Amino acid sequence: MKKQKVVVTGAGIGGLTASIYLAMKGYDVTILEKNSYPGGRCASFEKEGHRFDIGATLLMMPEIYRRMYKDFGTSMEDELDLYRMDPVYSLRYANGKELLFSSDLAEMQMQLEKFEQGCYPRFLEYMQESYHSYLLSMKRIIDVNYYNIFDFINYKNIRMLHKTKAFCNHYRRSVNYFTSEELRIAFTFQNIYVGQNPYRASAIFAMLPFLELTEGVWYPRGGMHAIVESLVSIAKSYGVEFSYKSEISSIEVAGNRVAGVRLQDGQVEKADIVVSNADLPYVYNELLPESRYVSKLNRLKYTCSALVFYWGMDRDFPGIKQHNVFVSKDYRKNIEGVFNGDDVSYDPSFYLHSPVKSDPTAAPDGQASVSIIIPLDYLRQGKEYDWDRIRDENRKAVFRRLEQEGIRDFEKHIKFESAYLPVTWKSVFNLSRGAIFGSLSHDLMQMGYFRPHNRHRKYKNLFFAGGSTHPGNGVPMAILSGKLVAEKIQKFYPSKQPFADARK
Ligand SMILES: Cc1cc2nc3c(=O)[nH]c(=O)nc-3n(C[C@H](O)[C@H](O)[C@H](O)COP(=O)(O)OP(=O)(O)OC[C@H]3O[C@@H](n4cnc5c(N)ncnc54)[C@H](O)[C@@H]3O)c2cc1C
Repeated sequence: MKKQKVVVTGAGIGGLTASIYLAMKGYDVTILEKNSYPGGRCASFEKEGHRFDIGATLLMMPEIYRRMYKDFGTSMEDELDLYRMDPVYSLRYANGKELLFSSDLAEMQMQLEKFEQGCYPRFLEYMQESYHSYLLSMKRIIDVNYYNIFDFINYKNIRMLHKTKAFCNHYRRSVNYFTSEELRIAFTFQNIYVGQNPYRASAIFAMLPFLELTEGVWYPRGGMHAIVESLVSIAKSYGVEFSYKSEISSIEVAGNRVAGVRLQDGQVEKADIVVSNADLPYVYNELLPESRYVSKLNRLKYTCSALVFYWGMDRDFPGIKQHNVFVSKDYRKNIEGVFNGDDVSYDPSFYLHSPVKSDPTAAPDGQASVSIIIPLDYLRQGKEYDWDRIRDENRKAVFRRLEQEGIRDFEKHIKFESAYLPVTWKSVFNLSRGAIFGSLSHDLMQMGYFRPHNRHRKYKNLFFAGGSTHPGNGVPMAILSGKLVAEKIQKFYPSKQPFADARK
């Protein structure tokens, strides 16, 4: 019997995982990817022996990866050579203090009490509460498919949202546990991982620091791209076909169905089912016929963007760890400004990643490959930006801050630089408004059933996988999105050839 043909547009994490789950179930899957490489925001690039993760640098929630690899008939240990980070990261405040976030509880107690004597029991209480939030949210909101609104809005879920403090403000909740501003920042800044303002986000996100400390933060030798490489190889072994430099210019519709996709060169690839891994608002705006839903999508909230520098260094700096967060002097003003669309702050908070600390393969011997992530507002329509100035002033601000931290002459040791601005994210990966963490924000009213669905309402054989649909941003969530959409496809269009033959 002929297999159903699935075309997946985009070889990001969501597209790759959906493809494997589907190929394993007997669908005939082809991935069409715009760029010449797979991975999207989890890709990497190399220059002069230096390797850089383009986007993701932290492997969090390893249990989700473990389960995925098991589902694919292999194991995380066989596919990835992982290091557990300890300290998870160094948080450096402008007043010269440093907090080493550690999953070793005795060390963590010592670190926390440097800031607030006697806060350790409150920290444990906070972590315990976050643990319950995490378990409940995974079971009831994150790792589930929604088929109607009552799957989301029901007595059990409302009770769960109440229990997980989803209706409370994250920063204000941290105030109940910590008196020092430094610790409040330390337990809320993780909202930025999902492109959110910690001062406005729901307290449900308290699960992020909890997960960092319990399940840990890991790093694969070979960089985050090692995950992508393993997925590509598994996909190929199940017969998934890849076509790179194949940008889709439209999704072809016929009545209430989609018939395939049109590539930029005009060629049409027919399909029984299309899974779009490209950013969802971009797909509705650019690839599908006009609809009323587009104006609704355009009114939703978007996550922030970022300026990312990639620096090939001729030496390593012992004063920095693998993951470092530099908190600016006026952190609140800086962060609120990013999310309010204020003018760019030239005293930014930033994150510095130096993978050679655990993975010497990231740079030539004795050298380093450093990336810096500076959160910036997403691109506002009609606003003019002086990108040269934004890049130059931010670069100078980073050097100034490193100098203050005793990390001297950093600039002199840079051999070469690459940089991704919000406009770069938009053009390289087709991310709406250059918003890199979603692109849609993770407000309560944009989560669960309220997040754009992974099945199109009108074109029933069009599905979505990736950070802008359910459950949301981050590599683990994109993995789940691939799994959930494959489950939905099997429910509505069961495979005519239920089980794939053995891996090739
Ligand atoms: C700077 C940064 C840091 C991050 N840090 C972390 C981290 O530490 N840990 C973590 O877990 N997550 C992190 N993330 C988030 C994580 O990288 C993403 O959530 C995840 O990789 C998104 O996967 P996705 O499936 O949504 O697709 P994407 O990565 O967006 O991939 C979509 C693919 O579709 C392709 N595409 C787009 N349009 C078309 C078209 N018309 N035709 C064909 N192909 C098309 C794109 O080229 C792309 O390859 C970070 C992201 C960024 C940007």
